Amino acid sequence: MQTIKYIAMGVVRLVLGLTFLFSGVVKLIDPHGTQYKIEDYGSAFGLSAFLPDGLPLALACALAMMEFQLGIYLLLGIRRRLASTVTVIFLMVMTPLTLYLALRNPVTDCGCFGDALVLTNWQTFLKNIVLLACACLALRYYRWMPRLVTRKNQWTVALYSFAFSALFAGYNLWQLPLIDFRPYHIGADIRQAWYDDQQGSGQFQTTFIMEKDGVQQEFTLEDYPDSTWTFVDTRTVESEPAKHTGVGELIIQDASGDDITEAILADEGYTFLLVAPYLEKADDGVMGEVLALYDHCMEAGYAFYCLTASGDEAIRDWKEMTGAEYPFCTADAIVLKTMIRSNPGLMLLHDGRVVAKWPASSFPWPPQLEQQMEQEVSSVEERIAGILCWYILPMMLFLLIDAVSLAISKLKIKHTHTQTPIKTTKNMRKKIVAGNWKMNKTLQEGVALATELKDMMAAEKPNCEVIIGTPFIHLATLSELLKDSVIAVSAENCANKESGAYTGEVSAAMVKSTGAEYVILGHSERREYYHETPEILKEKVDLALANGLKVIFCIGESLAEREANQQEAVCKAELEGSVFHLSAEQWKNIVIAYEPIWAIGTGKTATAEQAEEIHAYIRRCVADVYGAQVADETSILYGGSCKASNAPELFGKPDIDGGLIGGASLKAPDFKGIIDAWK
Ligand code: PEP
Repeated sequence: MQTIKYIAMGVVRLVLGLTFLFSGVVKLIDPHGTQYKIEDYGSAFGLSAFLPDGLPLALACALAMMEFQLGIYLLLGIRRRLASTVTVIFLMVMTPLTLYLALRNPVTDCGCFGDALVLTNWQTFLKNIVLLACACLALRYYRWMPRLVTRKNQWTVALYSFAFSALFAGYNLWQLPLIDFRPYHIGADIRQAWYDDQQGSGQFQTTFIMEKDGVQQEFTLEDYPDSTWTFVDTRTVESEPAKHTGVGELIIQDASGDDITEAILADEGYTFLLVAPYLEKADDGVMGEVLALYDHCMEAGYAFYCLTASGDEAIRDWKEMTGAEYPFCTADAIVLKTMIRSNPGLMLLHDGRVVAKWPASSFPWPPQLEQQMEQEVSSVEERIAGILCWYILPMMLFLLIDAVSLAISKLKIKHTHTQTPIKTTKNMRKKIVAGNWKMNKTLQEGVALATELKDMMAAEKPNCEVIIGTPFIHLATLSELLKDSVIAVSAENCANKESGAYTGEVSAAMVKSTGAEYVILGHSERREYYHETPEILKEKVDLALANGLKVIFCIGESLAEREANQQEAVCKAELEGSVFHLSAEQWKNIVIAYEPIWAIGTGKTATAEQAEEIHAYIRRCVADVYGAQVADETSILYGGSCKASNAPELFGKPDIDGGLIGGASLKAPDFKGIIDAWK
């Protein structure tokens, strides 16, 4: 069952990750395409007035970068909870929107995958339903998605992906889209495409039904029979449906309104098209190059036209401003924006084919023109290989180094251990049984439970240190109540701020002032429900120690992490993230509680062997940082469904120095049963 869940989550992660990655990459390749789509949505929903110039492009870039990041986070298991939450929110917005599009059709193509993959609105809606279901599963079981990069290095991956996506979008805007998914890409035979679209014809196959000696048979033109057969009938079917490329929508009219599209496309020589959908918004910084280019074309005998969707007034202004003498023709703005993603852009046709395109940022100068006209353009495969080299290869190298260094550090720890085995002088270490009441017991109930325990401990002295971790409201009363007893009081949390305007928080100094001696920090419930990160916990640990509290610091892996055999890496990372910065002196006030998350409150206990194995590993990690002596003196408690029946076996192991007890600490006899395991 668990394997199935694990495989299922792997599939979910791949579906979501790859879809977002693809969607992000195609948008990064063509940010203007997404910008135009956003503008289409704006006008379909009557929101154009709220979309000032520049906003649709900024939104397009932000959307592309977000999708790219999400794809990477989901695929590599970075910030799994955050990534799946953002994915769910995103799809909860997009799914109803695409249902509306499917029902009303205000925009014919949603633009999810740019021009690379055009889906109908219903296909998009169904795709979003599947993705939303996957995203909900990912959020519910995010712990089942394995991390492919260590926590320590995930920020490097995230920052690198962010920087790459920003630079890649910028490059594609500055130049032209690295891969051109539109019908006017370099190499496209637009003359043929235009004729095909005009005729709207696909391939037809005619079948002749003939008869001989009462038998009917079908023939085609290729195997038409001799005159001994008599003709009966014909049937014509479309064997290949017409491919509509959209090039047929290109209608170029000259200044007198005549349609000259066919004449331009039929030209067998070179034709330069200066494409400027809107002259009013066109970049006029390139006019020097354009004029020089036009003069050169006239000398060399190349045709030259400026295609625009702007009206006469804008053309007049442009001519006055730039001194343009080249002929102006008009065409539809959408078609012009499809032809080239630059305003203006330059397109070179030769014998009806697109042979070159230049964005305004790199118009050719006449001296290099012929050389650039002849220049071979790299293939799509080569361009994809370029992207791989710039992003995927360094990333794979980094992931490999990350994995190898993780493996090496594991080996090192094992090696250190075998070289200088840590003497397990268990008797020298403090043995502890600590309760964690969590959010249970009113003040009165707490006083009653503490009194009962106090009496029990007075009647029969425990063989270990006894601590009770209680909600803040009990601390002062119980500290007073238990001041002459063997039982110490612990808080279950403290703030990561010293003091000030943090409504509802309780500082380490306040905890200390109640008489409490300990504070439990890093409990998995606080990490999960209150998003306490290693950094926050580090601040809490520092403040607790600075205020004279001892810390019971909890670490432990989730079920998915144990199944991925990541328990050691997780525990080590949690120690490194929040407590390994402490000095050896400070470390004396640290107790570690290993609590596998899958065992907390579930009734599932780690076997004594499993627990011992990881306790020994934790001690080796402590030895690596603080030396064998300190490690030998560090108390490491086990937590997770520990009870009177399994405590003796667990506590019998050489590296287990007691327990942190949740459920079983809420009843005095149960708790006492565990304390008695030390007898
Ligand atoms: C705990 O939450 O610290 C704990 C160990 O809980 P339980 O004993 O109930 O599993």
